Amino acid sequence: MFAPLERILLVESDPHDARLVGLMLAGDKSLRAEIEHESDFERALQRLREADYDALLLADRAGEALHFLHRVMEWAPHLPVVVLSEDDDPERAMELVHGGAQDVIAKTHLSGPILARVLRYAKERKRTEEMLRTSQLVLEARIEDRTRHLTELNARLQAEIHQREAVERALRRETAFVATVLDTVAALVMVLDRSGRIREANRALVRLSGQPREALVGQVAWDLLAPPQWRETLRQALEDAFVGRAVPPMEVPLPTRAGEERLVRWESALVRDEAGQADYLVVCGGDITEQQRLKERERRRLLELAQASRLSTMGEMAAEIAHELNQPLSAIGNYARAGRMLLDRGGDRERLAHALDEIAAQAQRAGEVIRRLRQFVGKAELARAPVSVNELVADVIGLIEIEARWNHVRLEQDLPDDLPRIFADRILVEQVILNLARNAIEAMTEVPEDRRRLTLRAYAGQDGFVCIEVRDTGPGMAPERIKQIFDRFFTTKQKGMGIGLAICRSIAESHDGRLEVSSRPGEGAVFRLLLPEWRDA
Ligand code: ADP
Repeated sequence: MFAPLERILLVESDPHDARLVGLMLAGDKSLRAEIEHESDFERALQRLREADYDALLLADRAGEALHFLHRVMEWAPHLPVVVLSEDDDPERAMELVHGGAQDVIAKTHLSGPILARVLRYAKERKRTEEMLRTSQLVLEARIEDRTRHLTELNARLQAEIHQREAVERALRRETAFVATVLDTVAALVMVLDRSGRIREANRALVRLSGQPREALVGQVAWDLLAPPQWRETLRQALEDAFVGRAVPPMEVPLPTRAGEERLVRWESALVRDEAGQADYLVVCGGDITEQQRLKERERRRLLELAQASRLSTMGEMAAEIAHELNQPLSAIGNYARAGRMLLDRGGDRERLAHALDEIAAQAQRAGEVIRRLRQFVGKAELARAPVSVNELVADVIGLIEIEARWNHVRLEQDLPDDLPRIFADRILVEQVILNLARNAIEAMTEVPEDRRRLTLRAYAGQDGFVCIEVRDTGPGMAPERIKQIFDRFFTTKQKGMGIGLAICRSIAESHDGRLEVSSRPGEGAVFRLLLPEWRDA
């Protein structure tokens, strides 16, 4: 169906031709358009500006139509224009079509139906052209839109690529850095998977174990780097670590390829990914063989020194001990003689039995003194075991009471029954307390006899330590003195060696404990030996 043509402007300077055209169009019944005539180009332009026309019929008189056509096209590019030419010049017609005319008809061929058809076609072509242009514009807009979108996408992609490249570069740098650090540190480092297989081993581990990296990687760590008896413990530790249980540092012998054994202290840390999943365990170790040897040497030296010091203490106490032993021995002698007399006289059984009981009791008493002495001078090994503090203090009291009695010192004790046990080498701890007690007795020779009091007290602290306290009522010490007393060879005594307290402190420390003192001049001194409680694992 054609679009209707309602209003047509005819531009024709010749009134006769204009009328003719008007009549022709009016004669065609298919075209019921209103024809308006204008003879002047300028006025025609004016009318076109002021009203809407469905088509323009333009007579090309004296070749002026082209110029006018250009101006019309500028103003109304969508207006269908049909040119009525004077002659049948195809070149001129082509020029006019290029200039925007829909069609060019020679006036000589003109008839009503032809003109009506040409106008209708012109209008239709223009409409189609218009539709085409609109869809082209839509298409162009769409293409432009899509292009803009693609450009944006591209820019974003480029940015992402740059970012990724930067991250990759940083990652490469980081990896290189970590690899360099791992291979230069002295610590032994390996990465284990869930089955305990070595995924990575650093240079220090390769060097210490003597195993090439290829021999380590892929092997179960404890098969290569621990003695057989350790394997189950280490397997369990790995399992614990992977389920997030805390694994304490472990000191494990490492058999090297050369057949030597090194002691390594291992610690581990789980590597978790962003989701919290752990697939690897980083295990770091330090070769503590030398450190351990040094510690061992120090320990031996301390034990030897302590032993020497105990012997010397015994030497100092020899006279008193001899006297102490003399008493039960002479009592035994007396009871034996009395028994013999009773026998000779055929005396009564009851008195004889009493003499024999006394002999047994005195022998027991002497035996007890000797037992304590033998135990005390025995060889300490830093063999730590759970020890009852009360029993230990009772033994010291057995040794010290002779000296206290000789020096007129009142001995007091305060030992609760429910004290936790300590984890200690009994002989060494006894030595410390004996030493502190003897120092106290010696210090109190400076104060009048009726004010000499030595108190041995023990109690459990809040911090997992048991405190054994040795308190005296001696002259006490000024702060400057306190600072010096634990130094080796510091003594204020004529025959003193000045190593007693130094050894005592070393013994305390070798038990992971401490030895402290508090004192003021004129107020006596309190020494406190703090030792860790024994806790059943
Ligand atoms: P020594 O007994 O051979 O002097 P110690 O190391 O046992 O060596 O003691 C060092 C010094 O500490 C003693 O000479 C003494 O001056 C001081 N001292 C130790 N215990 C006491 C105490 N209970 N009261 C006052 N001074 C003390």
